[in-house]
Amino acid sequence: MDGGVDAPADSGMDDASADGAVDGAMDADTDAATDAGPLPDSGTVASPAAEVLRTGTGGFLLRGVVLAPDAVLDPGEVLIVGDTITCVAADCSAEPSADSVTLIDTHGTISPGLIDGHNHLTYDFLPEWVPDPARLFDDRYQWADDPAYEAHIAPFGDGRSRGDHICPGAKWGELRSLMHGTTTVQGQSRNLSCLNRLVRNADHHHGLGRDQMQTNIASVRDLTDADATRLLDNYIDATPTTRYVVHMAEGLSDKARLEFASLAGRDPRSNRHMGQSLLAGNYMGVDYSGVAVLIHSMPLTESELMEVADTGSMIVWSPSSNIVLYGATAPIGRMIELGLTIGIGPDWTVSGEDDLLSEMRFALDWAGIEGETEITPQRLWEMATFDGATVVGLDAFIGKLEVGMRADISVFGRLGRAPFEAVTDSRAADVRLVLIDGQGYYGDSALEDTTAVNRDCEMFDACGTDKFVCLANTPGATTSTARASETVVDVESELVAILDDYGRGSELLPLVACD
Ligand SMILES: [Zn+2]
Repeated sequence: MDGGVDAPADSGMDDASADGAVDGAMDADTDAATDAGPLPDSGTVASPAAEVLRTGTGGFLLRGVVLAPDAVLDPGEVLIVGDTITCVAADCSAEPSADSVTLIDTHGTISPGLIDGHNHLTYDFLPEWVPDPARLFDDRYQWADDPAYEAHIAPFGDGRSRGDHICPGAKWGELRSLMHGTTTVQGQSRNLSCLNRLVRNADHHHGLGRDQMQTNIASVRDLTDADATRLLDNYIDATPTTRYVVHMAEGLSDKARLEFASLAGRDPRSNRHMGQSLLAGNYMGVDYSGVAVLIHSMPLTESELMEVADTGSMIVWSPSSNIVLYGATAPIGRMIELGLTIGIGPDWTVSGEDDLLSEMRFALDWAGIEGETEITPQRLWEMATFDGATVVGLDAFIGKLEVGMRADISVFGRLGRAPFEAVTDSRAADVRLVLIDGQGYYGDSALEDTTAVNRDCEMFDACGTDKFVCLANTPGATTSTARASETVVDVESELVAILDDYGRGSELLPLVACD
């Protein structure tokens, strides 16, 4: 997470349509053996390639193992008409348009598009920073002042306020997200039109109605009386801020431990909105709660965790970045026990995993070592789908395979007895198809003709598997700017040129890792 104190504060779910037989409870084995041959007792296998059984118009009927909100449908179907899901069931054939849309047997696992609750996309062309000598830090302020850190991020840092750094950096981060089944990212992104395409940016250009989120990357202990008043005005406004996303207590230092109390209105220093919590309360006669999203939240005490629960505040967990920088992470087991709404995100490539799928695998490995039995593939999938949607305030539109939701869908070309492992086990080569608003942005090259959003998509080699990826002229892009027609190759060469200015052209972080 960007120690950037200079970054500006952003200044403002039941069963699918039941006519299909629900096959088995959520944690049941799948019986997809038919597709991929005998399934291993544990783990997953790559599934046979998808088949386009009929080319149609106006949408798609996808077959596969369907991860519906309250059940795993196997076999299952998802019907998409235009940009909307109109059926999720074992059999959607009786539904309107089911016989006119394109019919695809994915032979895979069909999930809502994944939601990354915490990223800093603009940095995601940089490789990991490894302090030399290796060391741990007390909090984010400590390494942010480390000259070696500053040198490492200089290719971005020196141009952080300029579009010619932000746009290609963020695009590279979004492309990597897309290739790993992620369709929405909360990423502290600047409000620039070049970001208004490709994956949804939960903090600005999400394409799902008005912007309801404010973010603040600076220390919450710097919030003054005037800051608090402005925020609370927005909380109770007719078109309110419904999500206030902050970096909360990243690290285990005393400084980090004071942050929660400060945000909760218990900061004894003057001009620090003493007595006025930004978590929940009453302002101008209006009650407010369920607005605050607390990224990291590592050293929260039991009573502070209870206050998070009581105020309806939410958490975003970033285990890999925490463990790499501090050797510890949030009390995630207790947070789950308390029923908190928890999202997940890799933070950034500088200290976290490179993508959300890798982050989920990191979390599973960590939980295995720590004996955190609450952390399972299914629980992580929920953090990255419907809980993630709630965290970013877009759960009315995305995060579930449910009738009426926008068709943000990721198909994973893996099958296993534990259906959610098909997601957490997947790499970019396994990501079979990614739809945003029912249009294909990434997937197996064999699906390009029938699913791609436009005819300007490019071939991409995902570790030996041919894929298509769409960037040029994709919806959202303001056609006026030259960036509307830029390709993946254009973005790549722009970033290499930026890094070359520092003699580090060979350091561009690849979009996919093949090892
Ligand atoms: Zn961060």
